[in-house]
Amino acid sequence: MVRLTRSRFLRQLTAGFLGLFCALVFAACGSSTTPTGGDATSTGASPAAGGDTLTFAIEPTFAPFEFTDSNGQLTGFDVDLLNAIAEEAGFTVNFQTSQFDGMIPALQAGTIDGAISAMTIKPERARVVDFSRPYYRSGLAIAVQSSNAEITSFDNLSGKRIAAQTGTTGATKAEEAQGDVRLFDNLPLALQELSNGNVDAVVHDAPAILYAIKTGSVQNIKTVGDLLTEEYYGIPLPKGSPNLERVNQGLTAIIENGTYAEIYRKWFGAEPPELPEKAPGIE
Ligand code: GLN
Repeated sequence: MVRLTRSRFLRQLTAGFLGLFCALVFAACGSSTTPTGGDATSTGASPAAGGDTLTFAIEPTFAPFEFTDSNGQLTGFDVDLLNAIAEEAGFTVNFQTSQFDGMIPALQAGTIDGAISAMTIKPERARVVDFSRPYYRSGLAIAVQSSNAEITSFDNLSGKRIAAQTGTTGATKAEEAQGDVRLFDNLPLALQELSNGNVDAVVHDAPAILYAIKTGSVQNIKTVGDLLTEEYYGIPLPKGSPNLERVNQGLTAIIENGTYAEIYRKWFGAEPPELPEKAPGIE
């Protein structure tokens, strides 16, 4: 696997987003990249013969991973990915919208079969849920107002008002900064606070911040410094779930047959990086 420095990785992520508009234009023109997806109670995957339906929680304000399009349809990289995995593994997905920080408790209670929401595989979570193999390489970034010349790295966050999303890796990182951390239910709310000048910085996943900047869904924002972390997203299922192997087999199959790369190119306008079979530091 090619190792990238964090700053090079951030540049690569940014470059990938330049191709994004083309991908979106193609989708809007109705080419073969038309997004699949469903609303909160249905799915874009066609039911497999004899297959069962599994309910996955999803937090639909995290573009480009999961969000609702202008027709109110659930769409995004994670939606396409899980539908492709399901098709391969012979099940149908029922997407159930949920708050991000409610997912682990719901998985522990066994009220859902899984979740997909750009969730970072980390040891504390892996102790209470089972994760699929990694499906996306990510990292945390700092966002500030475009005019801010004072904050250029994590060290500058000390004493600052920092917005993050409840229950995320960004919130955990923000707590290390010795600042005044303000928690929000989702990324758009945190970025809006930054745009309005009510906080000095946001710490959250780089690809989602960069997408919000590139698509203009938030104004007057830029990212600064290098990526703060290297993280891998996985699909969490309840501990001991009989579906873990199916999800992993489906994911491995679409990585090997090129479907994963197709979905990655569609949403990120770049070739996917090589993915490890296990997230670093996770058994
Ligand atoms: N990747 C981050 C985490 O797992 C944030 C995910 C999200 O906000 N959907 O904590």
